[in-house]
Amino acid sequence: MPTDVKTIAVIGAGQMGGGIAQVAATAGINAIAYDAFPASLDKCKALHTKLMARAVEKGKMSQSDANAALARISYTADFDAITKADWVVEAAVEDAALKAELFQRLARTFTNPRVVLATNTSSISITQIAAAAEAETPGAGSRVIGMHFFNPVPVMKLVEVIRGLTTTDEVTQRTIDLSIAMGKEPHAANDRAGFVSNRVLMPMINEAFYAWMEGVAEPEDIDAIMMKGCAHPMGPLRLADFIGLDTCVHIMDVLADGLNNDRYRACPKLKQLVTAGRLGNKTQRGVYDYTSK
Ligand code: NAD
Repeated sequence: MPTDVKTIAVIGAGQMGGGIAQVAATAGINAIAYDAFPASLDKCKALHTKLMARAVEKGKMSQSDANAALARISYTADFDAITKADWVVEAAVEDAALKAELFQRLARTFTNPRVVLATNTSSISITQIAAAAEAETPGAGSRVIGMHFFNPVPVMKLVEVIRGLTTTDEVTQRTIDLSIAMGKEPHAANDRAGFVSNRVLMPMINEAFYAWMEGVAEPEDIDAIMMKGCAHPMGPLRLADFIGLDTCVHIMDVLADGLNNDRYRACPKLKQLVTAGRLGNKTQRGVYDYTSK
């Protein structure tokens, strides 16, 4: 079914929220990028301008389409400005308490039962987020769903669509329709810790750290073996640096707690790098050293 969504409010204009707003606008949907921090909005706007200019330069987009897409995005630090949206995708920081508070506010603000309250969380239970919305406005929990985009959003095709315990079939179908309208390929997953993507990916990354810690091979060889032998586009240790080693530890904790199984605990070698402040690309050092690049 074609989507009937006209305006998406994106909560949190960081790496993921900025990408979601950009993809929506490019697909002809208005996007309101909301962030609690004006500096994030400035950064997001500058990045959109740069990325659209690059797309025009590379011949992927005409100048008029780029102008039209940019004109569809508005940037605001005023929560009241998002009320005209007919769909919400929350992409603020990965903090359960903050998301609960945001979804209470969203449930209070959007009482229209047609407005879907989606979250881009990569690990927090959708049922738990929905319960916060439900506590504020009875019925709102059934409109909460996981709409899990991947990084970088304009490039990665997948949207993992995760229904919580109370999410309705209609909301799920409309989320699939919207994802397709945004040029993505949605796949359904149920609300268990890590969903599908992180449940399968993260233990593999964790195992690569064990292989390194136990002296099975050096990082370069572990990555090369997985790339050349298993057709992975990027080795698991380099991918861990890209994701952020602190994020990897956090997701392993979510898996271990959520699936109630210590085999998902983060490898000591991974935890040690985080303790040393080596978080990956974002701190210029992780498994690898990026300071000279
Ligand atoms: P980020 O740190 O780049 O962006 C988060 C943004 O939220 C920041 O701009 C921050 O200013 C803003 N923010 C903080 N508190 C806020 C509030 N109360 N209200 C509104 N905005 C607020 O983080 P990110 O990587 O874009 O991640 C965002 C979400 O997407 C997280 O839930 C994360 O788990 C999920 N996610 C991340 C990735 C990834 O690879 N980075 C992939 C899939 C999903």
